[in-house]
Amino acid sequence: MTFPRLLSPLQVRSIRLANRMIMGSMHLGFEGEADAFPRLARFYRERAKGGVGLIVTGGVSPNDEGGFGADGIVLAEPGQLAGHRLITDAVHAEGGRIVMQILHCGRYGKHSAIVAPSAIRAPIGVATPREMTAADIARTIEQYGVTARLAVEAGYDGVEVMASEGYLVNEFLAPRTNRRTDSWGGSIDGRMRFLIEITRAVRAALGPGLILTARLSMVDLVEDGMTADEVVRVARALEATGVDILNSGIGWHESRVPTIAHTVPQGAWSWAVARVKAAVSIPVAASNRVKTPELAESLLESGVADLVSMARPLLADPAFAAKVRDGRAETINACIGCNQGCLDPIFSGGTSTCLVNPRAGREDTFVARPVTRAETIAVVGGGPAGMASALEAARRGHRVTLFEAAEELGGQFVLARRIPGKAEYMATPRHYAGELAAAGVDIRLGTRAGAADLAAFDRVVLAAGVTPRRLGIPGADHPKVAGYDDILSGRREAGARVAILGCGGVGFDVATALLGETGEEFEAVWGIDRAFATPGALTAAAAAPPPARRIVMMQRRAERPGATLGKTTGWIHKALLHRSGVEMLSGVAYRHIDDAGLHVTIAGQDRVIEADTIVVCIGQDPRRDLLESLEKAGKPVHLVGGARDAGRLDALAAFAEGTRLGLEI
Ligand code: SF4
Repeated sequence: MTFPRLLSPLQVRSIRLANRMIMGSMHLGFEGEADAFPRLARFYRERAKGGVGLIVTGGVSPNDEGGFGADGIVLAEPGQLAGHRLITDAVHAEGGRIVMQILHCGRYGKHSAIVAPSAIRAPIGVATPREMTAADIARTIEQYGVTARLAVEAGYDGVEVMASEGYLVNEFLAPRTNRRTDSWGGSIDGRMRFLIEITRAVRAALGPGLILTARLSMVDLVEDGMTADEVVRVARALEATGVDILNSGIGWHESRVPTIAHTVPQGAWSWAVARVKAAVSIPVAASNRVKTPELAESLLESGVADLVSMARPLLADPAFAAKVRDGRAETINACIGCNQGCLDPIFSGGTSTCLVNPRAGREDTFVARPVTRAETIAVVGGGPAGMASALEAARRGHRVTLFEAAEELGGQFVLARRIPGKAEYMATPRHYAGELAAAGVDIRLGTRAGAADLAAFDRVVLAAGVTPRRLGIPGADHPKVAGYDDILSGRREAGARVAILGCGGVGFDVATALLGETGEEFEAVWGIDRAFATPGALTAAAAAPPPARRIVMMQRRAERPGATLGKTTGWIHKALLHRSGVEMLSGVAYRHIDDAGLHVTIAGQDRVIEADTIVVCIGQDPRRDLLESLEKAGKPVHLVGGARDAGRLDALAAFAEGTRLGLEI
């Protein structure tokens, strides 16, 4: 496939963008650290080198009260410019273009001085914000202008005003959070006044030559959000105020509708973007669940948008745009929408990386250096840790042989194949298979390596993964007991009544797989009004169809089931299972299994969970069969991934460990 529209340049004022691909703004979580700017400069340099037309930085606040908290960046005075110059110099050295996003977090800030148009606490907020006075508003608008002027001094190619996702400007726009009765509230003219005044101040600071983009909430997906007409009114007002590109935001962080997780169909928000595009004459960028060049090209071709904004896809593959340009689109390392490496850590106070590309955010420490002495290396196991270590070691010059007992690469990762919504995970083993072959790795599928096979190698990487842990109660060998791998691989069929032991990620995956595809439309499941006849485009969700099975999930721990799931996706999985009538139990003592089912005790009460199939998802044990014999033979051995620590199935850690090892040996 060719990508003529995606690759066509775009002149924006005095600046020519090489193509229609934008790297969307992402907070990376290390912005508050001492070495943040050199690290950010390396991060953005790599993306600029990868050919993306325009980069938008993570949010930079115009004042302290608008910051995230300890891990945010504020740009309010000339003394704060030096770090930014590192970023702009790095991007420009690679021929890239970068605009700085100005973000005031409003009531989403994680500190005690948060402000908002009205004193209404966010459902996900840490405190009730202070209502801004008219003087606060005037000062804040002025500070946006100051920050924009400083961005120009720092060498940015322009500025993006963040007006979506439920942050301060969006809070002014929506009646949900703006209950003001003065000239900054009321009708949409009053509610958008703050944004328009900011835009004027920023436009004036940028002068005529630099780029001004605004990220507008195309659809709020919250009750009392903007109406369809109001969104269009705001878009037109932004155009009239000198905005050059409208970037799109979808939903608020507090929305109870998933917007970017893998459960959201790709391109799901085209309808919301297309409505705005039809109403303005400036370029509009589509975002959220646009992750392949094929989809991006089709959105441009069908007139939905003029550009595409992608954040996570460029974490997963910084060379995304260059690969499209050079006819190597099939070698893109695709984002799988898992959020495990990027957004989940951010919402838990950590730093962003990427599950399928562990170098993301660690460009300074995950450095590939050619080997001084090439060794022969055997990697035992073709799961995430094995694939990653084999790839990096081979790229650096080692001669690597990868042994995999199964007939395909991926290890436990390929179990995702049968889980509704996770089919795209299969792109990762496919990508690694291609890269391993290109790096010259000798891949031996269907080969369970023994000690004799490994004798001739200089060193061995044991990445043999895990074995599912067995249940240790009477009746554990009953025919109705199955391992999670039996179910997810399709080796075993489950009956109509299922008990699932374990409420971690694997237990949730099994329940989701057993419920199967329901055939319902995404919008019906989540109550999204594509006609946009209601404020925020929310409507009543459809009732779930009768579930394919009756499922009871349980765990020994007393905490809420699903507490260990990812911050940004766990609530989605829980909501979907609850909707299908899945029962979830905590604090369960497993007693025994017989023909009647699973006998348990909960809070001192005995109960029989009647089940045709009992699926065990209680963890894993490391697979280290060869370790002792190799060590006895004096062979240098490296344990990595689940074979080293099988605490829980953790592909994020396995890819990272494997990559690090491959870069070091
Ligand atoms: Fe995409 Fe997952 Fe990587 Fe995030 S961690 S960029 S969602 S593949």
